[in-house]
Formats: sequence, C-alpha cells, structure tokens
Amino acid sequence: MRCPFCGHLEDKVVDSRESREGDSIRRRRECLSCARRFTSYERVEEVPLVILKKDGRREPFDRQKVMKGLLLACQKRPVSLARIEQLVGDLHARLMERPDREIRSRELGELIMDELKGLDQVAYVRFASVYRDFKDLPDFVKALEGLMHKEAAGARNGATPAAPPAPEAVKPVPQALFPGEAEAPVPRTRKK
Ligand SMILES: [Zn+2]
Repeated sequence: MRCPFCGHLEDKVVDSRESREGDSIRRRRECLSCARRFTSYERVEEVPLVILKKDGRREPFDRQKVMKGLLLACQKRPVSLARIEQLVGDLHARLMERPDREIRSRELGELIMDELKGLDQVAYVRFASVYRDFKDLPDFVKALEGLMHKEAAGARNGATPAAPPAPEAVKPVPQALFPGEAEAPVPRTRKK
C-alpha cells in the first residue's frame, strides 16, 4: 500500500485486528522507506441499497440523508440522537434483508413514518405533512427544512402563525332589470 507520507509502495503489517462488529479488519502498517505508520481497513464490498424514485430513476440509499430528515423532524422534540441513530440503523438493517436491495421512495417514507409514530407524535406529523410531495430524499429534506423554517417564524411572531384574512362575504347586489326599477318599489295597482 502506498505510504501516505512519502509515497513508497512497500510496507510491513505490524498489527492486524478485526473490528468489534466483525465487519472490517484494521491493519497497522509501517512504511519500509520512511518507517512512519499508517492504518488500512479491509471490508466486504457491500451491495448498495437503491431507492426507486417516483419518476423511475434510482438513487443510492443515503443513510446521512435519512438521518438529516429525521433530525429535522425531531428538532426541539424530546428524542435523543441515540434513538434516531438506532432508528436509522434498524431501518437500514431491514432494507438490507430484502432480496432485491431496492425500495420505492414511497414505501421508504411509510416505513420511516411507522417508526416515527411510536417515537414522537409531533415529529410524525411534521414528517407526514411533507411526505405527500416526497419525490426523493433531497426533495424531502428541503421540504422539511421549509416546514421547520415556517414553524420557527410562527413561534417568533406569536403562538400561532398568522392566518390569511378571511375573504369578505360578497353581498349580492340587487340587479334592476330595467333602469329605475329597483330605486323605489313600484306600488302594485290593486285589482278591484
Ligand atoms: Zn513512507
């Protein structure tokens, strides 16, 4: 392996150990030229998880994006970071068990909502309110950011965000069929 300090290609492994989870091996190496030490990791190549978007395109499942979305939904809520991390970890594990390693974005959103429902109602409602327009994860995160921004603005201006003024009830204007007709009621001539 190329030495990150001097670029020399020969080294010797001075220590080798498996990670606690058993998913990687860490090797301590010593450069044969400059004698400085560096670390390399060996792990099994993972088959990526893929999200099938509404428009038919595919994008790799990005744990960080899911995490970001959940952090936004749980902002200022009594939900610990550890709990959110656990949720994302569980979700990822469930998806990795799927034989096709592919999930529709809609289905992914539903899975996340199921988890949030049991975690925090406010976070769940926040998530669900932007979910309708959920096209893909970046869109989703953007939508959630917009929502949180609005919530923050509402909190600054008072307890509830200002509602748009109610439209004035439109009074029907009596229409005269002929000029002068509506100005004064024409007394009916009583028939004798
Ligand atoms: Zn070196």
